[in-house]
Amino acid sequence: PPPPSSSAQSAIAVAVRVRPFLAPPAEQSNEKRVITVVDEQVLVFDPADPSQANRRRTYTHGSRRHKEIRYGFDRVFNEAATQQEVYEGTAKPLLDGVLNGFNATVFAYGATGCGKTHTITGTTKDPGIIWLTMRELFERINAASAEQTFETTVSYLEVYNEAIRDLLDASPSPESLDLREDDGNARVVVAGLSEHKPKNVDHVMRLLIEGNNQRTRASTEANAVSSRSHAVLQIHVRQQDRAVGVKSNVKLATLSIIDLAGSERASNTKNQGQRLIEGANINRSLLALGNCINALCSDRPNHIPYRDSKLTRLLKYSLGGNCRVVMITAVSASSQHYDETHNTLKYANRAKNI
Ligand code: ADP
Ligand code: MG
Repeated sequence: PPPPSSSAQSAIAVAVRVRPFLAPPAEQSNEKRVITVVDEQVLVFDPADPSQANRRRTYTHGSRRHKEIRYGFDRVFNEAATQQEVYEGTAKPLLDGVLNGFNATVFAYGATGCGKTHTITGTTKDPGIIWLTMRELFERINAASAEQTFETTVSYLEVYNEAIRDLLDASPSPESLDLREDDGNARVVVAGLSEHKPKNVDHVMRLLIEGNNQRTRASTEANAVSSRSHAVLQIHVRQQDRAVGVKSNVKLATLSIIDLAGSERASNTKNQGQRLIEGANINRSLLALGNCINALCSDRPNHIPYRDSKLTRLLKYSLGGNCRVVMITAVSASSQHYDETHNTLKYANRAKNI
């Protein structure tokens, strides 16, 4: 594996995907649109007039002032964006690096209900980034198989309350799996995690759906069924030249695709007891992730606080150095999620170059 480059020009791209209203806002409801997508890189949060965000800066008479904050990102996907378009603008460009031995990470960040799982996993009818990525990965591997041999293994785990659980183990250990840093080989190993060798992309989808059913779900006041865990799919690609006689050149890379837990703050929901501890732990991993990314984006990325959470320890060799990282920020256009959306956009905005 390549040594982490000291100049660590970290390549973190931040994309935003705006989820459509699930039902058109009812005449009587107070639900309003709070995001206007201006173009492929700009959106306006809380526009004075959603249909006029580009042209005017007025305030609706008699109402509070609108925030009307313009945000620029590497990529903004509006409600009409298809899974294929989101894939092509986010994960697809990472494949070249992965097939050259560089690690890469894609993660979906956002409040519960804003489209993270839809974007990452999707459904069998409308599959998301994982399926689309694996399909292309298998195609490229087949195309190169005359010159090289490939071994692709997949693992799927969740980080819940700072404990690691295998999502693809029929009889998972009740204890948290241990993380072991293998600094010599620049990788982190999860002891006892099951590894699978998918034969084709539909096999991957079956594994995912099986794994997602294992994901810890618990009700909170914010949402009846909300995901309180971070789900991490890791695809390990090992490739080797076929040519006999030459000193064989082995390349290893890991592509991590992560569906983060809901980012709504513990303080926003009237959580108590177990739910309060969960909220704190979710925030701990999300906070640590944000801190690592901010540190990597700074001018002198010397101390990266990977050790602050399980998630960031796991991703130690998948965020910095020569890795490429894409953050997909999932937001809802509805005023129902006004505060969450504002917080999410602020987090995403901080993750850009500082
Ligand atoms: P999260 O994982 O962030 O909690 P989900 O992905 O489960 O959110 O999305 C919540 C609901 O919205 C689901 O019913 C999902 O199918 C739907 N949804 C999310 N994003 C989209 C989209 N871009 N187009 C259509 N439906 C979507
Ligand atoms: Mg989800």
